[in-house]
Amino acid sequence: MKKYDLIVVGAGIMGTFHAYHAAKMGKKVLLLEKDNKPVGSTIQNFGQVVPSGLDAFWQKYGRRSLEIYDYLQSQADFTLLKNGSVYIASDNDEVQLANEAAEMHQKAGYNVEMLSKKETQSRFPDLKSAYIKSSIFYPEEYSVNASEFIYKLINFCVDTLGVTYKNSTLAINIEENNGEAKVETAAKEAFYSEKVIICSGYVFNALFPEIYQHSGLIVSKLQMLKTVPLKQMFLKSNILTGLTIRRYEAFESCPSFSKITTPKQLLELKKYGIHILFKQLPDGSIIVGDSHEYAGVDVVENLGLGVQDKINNLMKTEAKRILEIPDAAYSQAWAGYYAQHPDGIFEYKISENIEIRTGIGGKGMTTSAGYAEEKISQLFQ
Ligand SMILES: Cc1cc2nc3c(=O)[nH]c(=O)nc-3n(C[C@H](O)[C@H](O)[C@H](O)COP(=O)(O)OP(=O)(O)OC[C@H]3O[C@@H](n4cnc5c(N)ncnc54)[C@H](O)[C@@H]3O)c2cc1C
Repeated sequence: MKKYDLIVVGAGIMGTFHAYHAAKMGKKVLLLEKDNKPVGSTIQNFGQVVPSGLDAFWQKYGRRSLEIYDYLQSQADFTLLKNGSVYIASDNDEVQLANEAAEMHQKAGYNVEMLSKKETQSRFPDLKSAYIKSSIFYPEEYSVNASEFIYKLINFCVDTLGVTYKNSTLAINIEENNGEAKVETAAKEAFYSEKVIICSGYVFNALFPEIYQHSGLIVSKLQMLKTVPLKQMFLKSNILTGLTIRRYEAFESCPSFSKITTPKQLLELKKYGIHILFKQLPDGSIIVGDSHEYAGVDVVENLGLGVQDKINNLMKTEAKRILEIPDAAYSQAWAGYYAQHPDGIFEYKISENIEIRTGIGGKGMTTSAGYAEEKISQLFQ
């Protein structure tokens, strides 16, 4: 019977970074994943690492995550590219919010450049001139290829940090007796440890379903689109647009935010939680997103697995105002899902040594590395 210092349930970015930091402290760690390869939110996402979009509390974790990403990319190719992020303002209200956010971030010591229309056009010549009023650019931010990153991080944890990883292993029961935690799996194995952290993403029925029922967690479904390789375009950075300025938390803290109303032509987009983001992959294809629909944990199935043409068409039309993407260039559409909580994350202590951490929402790729570092150092202090 092998005893670990820590068992982490769930090998998405949240669980894997908890395992990573504990192993870096010299702890003996077991990481369990129910699927053959993790396929949750962590591989379905955009891969924009954008602390600039977050409120001050979460931006702190995002900025620390950038430093951890600097370190990781210096060790091996984790697909992390430090090409920055740009927010394009398309009308006077968005210009106002963008300028206020940039001033706020400058004061907080976060590197940001305010670009005129001309400077924006010269750096991003593929964007349509008529859309651009001005922009703000964050040079330190990353993009990551979400379809590869987590597998590289798990391998690094195993090969370099000595984490034990067991895939195809569904945890179905966890309990604590006399200070020792026991994790039982569907295959009737049992593992023992001092502490357990459950980072199960949007899976609510395998462990402690009664706790999730009353947790305040909800699930968000996002529609995403991808084009064929468009080699004639070169989008070096994460591109975020006017609707993002109107949506992301960072801009909510701006003095003018409460005075700004939604123009009539954007109301239908807002109804489906649509804001337009672009990210070009190394092969030239462009990911375009996204929309947001919501359901409580007890009715997640109502969100469905399919994508709605209506939402895709709204996104394509708005995207075309910004970038000339022909309808025929879209080759893929999918839905991604993540758990979110009104407090920014769901942290729940089941017993002295067993905790749940999920519901980090749309910021997990940006903040999990820094967040997990702090939590692990508190856990083992
Ligand atoms: C479409 C989309 C776009 C996004 N874009 C961005 C972005 O650009 N930037 C950003 O910062 N964030 C983005 N996000 C959010 C980000 O992807 C999530 O915040 C993050 O991936 C959540 O990670 P997680 O580890 O909590 O969950 P998950 O990745 O879902 O991982 C949970 C894991 O736990 C496993 N598991 C569950 N139950 C058990 C069990 N009982 N036993 C064993 N294993 C179990 C699951 O199989 C899964 O692998 C996006 C998300 C989506 C869906």
